[in-house]
Amino acid sequence: MSRILYDLTLIRGIAFDMDGVLSSSTVAVREDGTLQRHSNVKDGFALQYAVRHGLHIAIISGAKDESMLPGYRSLGLTDIFFHCDHKTARMEAWMASHGLTREQVAFVGDDIPDIPPMQLAGLAVVPADASEEAKAVASYISPCLGGAGVARDLISQILRAQGLWMTGPDAYRW
Ligand SMILES: [Mg+2]
Repeated sequence: MSRILYDLTLIRGIAFDMDGVLSSSTVAVREDGTLQRHSNVKDGFALQYAVRHGLHIAIISGAKDESMLPGYRSLGLTDIFFHCDHKTARMEAWMASHGLTREQVAFVGDDIPDIPPMQLAGLAVVPADASEEAKAVASYISPCLGGAGVARDLISQILRAQGLWMTGPDAYRW
């Protein structure tokens, strides 16, 4: 298990990019031009677990289609933002809506558009296959690939530090 050099007991919210973070960097394109993404079920477990244990979770994506919206909503996520050409303003508004300070939030991104919100967050995280530009401003590079465990890695480390991971009567259910 990689360890994050940050006081994870401070973290109250995590914002995720979608493509290359919650789903793979590679997106299949159907013959009709629509996109086919995959979601990782272990990341999904961690996301709904985090929501149930009081972490604020956001998705801040530049994607123009909302094919993943029903799946994310089924996990209990409510702060889902697509069409974000400039992610910093969306990140600032999301933080303000929950009264979150920089030190209380993490941003997980994988490429150049994510760099401004990464710099806004106290903890900036990238998957192992992030771009070199994004890695250069990250405070933690997860050993997991985008779409394959980076959310699980971060959430489990945060909630373990807060004594909330695999504890309590509802820790083993969806
Ligand atoms: Mg991305």
